[in-house]
Amino acid sequence: MNVEKCSFPKGSGVSDDGLTSNKIPVRHFFGTRGTPVGLATHIQLGHIASGPREFPSVVALKQIHSTRVVVIHTHRGLGALEQTEGDALVTNQPETLVVVRTADCVPVLLVEKARGVVGAIHAGWRGAVGGIVAETIRSCVNEFGAKAEHMHLAIGPSIGPCCYEVDEQVINPLRSRYPAWPGVLQETNAGKGVLDLKQLIYHQIRAGGVPDSQIGRVDHCTHCRDDLFFSYRREGQVKGTMYSGIILPAA
Ligand SMILES: [Zn+2]
Repeated sequence: MNVEKCSFPKGSGVSDDGLTSNKIPVRHFFGTRGTPVGLATHIQLGHIASGPREFPSVVALKQIHSTRVVVIHTHRGLGALEQTEGDALVTNQPETLVVVRTADCVPVLLVEKARGVVGAIHAGWRGAVGGIVAETIRSCVNEFGAKAEHMHLAIGPSIGPCCYEVDEQVINPLRSRYPAWPGVLQETNAGKGVLDLKQLIYHQIRAGGVPDSQIGRVDHCTHCRDDLFFSYRREGQVKGTMYSGIILPAA
């Protein structure tokens, strides 16, 4: 693994996330710091494939850095907000926007076109090491008959290895639960290392059976790009979070 300084010049455009280039017919976005923190009326979209608008139903979770996947089987009301705890949402319901909030953690969006399933994942190191990506793929398969080989996933903006030094609190569980850890962690000093969280998630998506050509990533680092993103680590507190979401069109 090479660790390089974030190479995106300030003000450069947002890189492609795979869903757009593969012409997947779902609307989705990765938010920026221009996104309002509240979901009360509608979401102003920072990065969107097909233009801002209001959504009939918005579903979010009380995120707890777990591996819990919440399955939405029925259409919720206008602007429905979950108080349920969990860190991934999957649904086969059209016109239901599933969203996650991040500020350094990785937002991952998923779509399986053939079965009409979408999902959104919030993956920090705890969720990633715990296996939330595999859990989400499994939920889509078990609950909706989706196939991993038909899924497209987009890995959104998050803290990059350029800025993500971790200690034994992260390194020890990573080593014990993820045998391929040398591919995503570069040790620096004793008990310290830099973690490539996006690469860990990419490996887990591949291990879940999704072809490489169907995985995209936005390689912006939330810590480097203070012009675009909130960063918990840079700001030392929660100043704001970015929303990322995906929605199936009306049936
Ligand atoms: Zn960085």
